[in-house]
Amino acid sequence: MSTRLPAVTVVGSINLDIIATADRLPTAGETIGSGVLSQQPGGKGANQAVAAARLGGTARMIGAVGSDSQGGVMLSALSSAGVDVSDVAVLDGAATGTALIVVDHDGENQIVVCPGANSGFALDGISFAPEETVLCQLEVGLPVVLEVARRATGFFVLNAAPAMDLPAELLERCDLVIVNETEYELITSLTGAKLVAVTYGAAGSAMFEHGVRVAEAHSVSVTVANTIGAGDAFCAGLVLALRSGLSYGDALAVANLVGADAVADPSSQPALGSLDSYVARVV
Ligand code: ADP
Repeated sequence: MSTRLPAVTVVGSINLDIIATADRLPTAGETIGSGVLSQQPGGKGANQAVAAARLGGTARMIGAVGSDSQGGVMLSALSSAGVDVSDVAVLDGAATGTALIVVDHDGENQIVVCPGANSGFALDGISFAPEETVLCQLEVGLPVVLEVARRATGFFVLNAAPAMDLPAELLERCDLVIVNETEYELITSLTGAKLVAVTYGAAGSAMFEHGVRVAEAHSVSVTVANTIGAGDAFCAGLVLALRSGLSYGDALAVANLVGADAVADPSSQPALGSLDSYVARVV
């Protein structure tokens, strides 16, 4: 297989994740005093762009940060991973998107996302090449995702997370939708979609064409360090594998290996091998 991987453009969220690890999650009105604080770059869009770049793909990010200090930190994190950030807007006066996460020692979590700049950007001056592969999620405004779907003419992928009702126009434009099993149950219109990849955590993933299961792949067993970002790494791996010409089954197997490496890594933007190194373990 060629080492030259397809280019992927990710349109999506860029967040600072502020994480408090505590003995247990607080109930309403309760204060828990034993938290340990950490901060790391996150946001589904940024996580997917970074994963695509680390796998060896050419990754372009379209999104926005605020003009605060966190925005600069998020931009440097993307650039140092090799993501092209020239189309990331810096919105004057807006706050960089932030996710406040409380996680207990079993990995159970509570998350409040404050979208800030993620909900305030438009696609002014942005264009897409005819064959460009584009990957979106739903953490930026739906109007932006719809506009991308209208403008992009190449392979169009939607990671439909967080789950919401999808306008028919958007669903019809998707060459591939990627969801976890909860999202697949919640978004009932997906059973009629052209092509849907569904992830099942430690149980792996499967591909559905118009609701019919056409391929599946088991995951590999790993020690879980952090499940946040596993789905994002899976998305990047699956899109690159499919665009490199792998069959559905092999592409799912490659993406499962990428997802497994992501859960074994404490970061939401995990270290990954090259796509070729995962492909070599599958085919
Ligand atoms: P999400 O994080 O979006 O809910 P999943 O939990 O289904 O998505 O995980 C996405 C992918 O990451 C899975 O299909 C699998 O390949 C991998 N993965 C997730 N959890 C594990 C695990 N415990 N062991 C091995 N692989 C995992």
